[in-house]
Amino acid sequence: MPTPEHRWLRATESGSGRSRLLIVDDDVVNLQVLGAVFEADHDVRLLESGTTALAQALEDPPDLILMDILMPDMDGLEACARLKQSASTQEIPVIFITGQGSPLEETAALATGAVDFITKPINPDVVRARVRTHLKLKAQSDALKAMAYLDGLTGVANLRRLEDYLQTEWRRCRRHGAPMSLLMADIDHFKHYNDTLGHPAGDDCLRQLAGALEGILKRPQDLLARYGGEEFTLVLPETDEKGAARVAREALKAVRALAIPHPGSTHGIVTLSLGASTRIPNEDQTVEELVAHADAGLNAAKAAGRNRCVAHGGPDDADPGSPRT
Ligand code: GH3
Ligand code: MG
Ligand code: MG
Repeated sequence: MPTPEHRWLRATESGSGRSRLLIVDDDVVNLQVLGAVFEADHDVRLLESGTTALAQALEDPPDLILMDILMPDMDGLEACARLKQSASTQEIPVIFITGQGSPLEETAALATGAVDFITKPINPDVVRARVRTHLKLKAQSDALKAMAYLDGLTGVANLRRLEDYLQTEWRRCRRHGAPMSLLMADIDHFKHYNDTLGHPAGDDCLRQLAGALEGILKRPQDLLARYGGEEFTLVLPETDEKGAARVAREALKAVRALAIPHPGSTHGIVTLSLGASTRIPNEDQTVEELVAHADAGLNAAKAAGRNRCVAHGGPDDADPGSPRT
């Protein structure tokens, strides 16, 4: 029989694809009954109050929450409403399990954003089936969301994801007083490559480059995105000028190592030009300026002969407003 505790039951098996359920009820017997229904198939954590459930969900979001409504410190309705207010927990499906089953209460429960409402005494098969349905729906919606953020050709993040991520990380770096760096990369003489070898070969080249660039990013918060046609962006939060320069060198090296033949290049292979910019965010600056400065660095790298990285503010600097051709 599981007992209330602050760790995942069968936590050793998490990572094995088992869904993680948070079960919240101030009645320990109810908790144990529900725990027993799910512990064979899921990683289950049992909690006795809305307050601890909220803290737990924020710290380590589960896949689904089963929650009682009437609880002494913070009732289920309030806990659910609060979960829906926080970006990191608002997508977690909440199912209420309650002793009272009036239509009024059911409506109030669903109005907080819960996905389902089950009355006690529970039928284990019914609760299991409903949980399975909501886990499946959640997994499908997660998959769709992930697809909406991916570039169809290369599989890396797309512009939409990049724009969201830039804003989030810029704010995070500002809170921590940390520098944020950005690299803008553009393939050299890629029009010639396409014109001579054909568009499918160009697409294949883009895929290979995306793979090589993805391979050099080591930190989980680094992000590679396809900015547009043959341009990629590398977002490097909490990274200073030196770190950005190192990543740029690795990017140039990784692309050289691919050694993709390019008949129109003086190097004989496909190369990249990069622009770098680094800022410690403050109220007077926007992330758009960081992007514009990296773009200016890229212009300068093209003008200086390509196959290199120029940092905005460095010796080869260019006017951030000047358009690239
Ligand atoms: P530069 O060294 O100055 O960057 O020259 P460039 O030829 O790379 O620059 P330009 O911007 O003139 O050409 C970009 C070319 O990239 C145009 C097009 O042939 C190619 N391109 C853009 N998007 C795609 C794509 O999705 N697939 C393929 N195959 N080619 C693309
Ligand atoms: Mg180009
Ligand atoms: Mg271009």
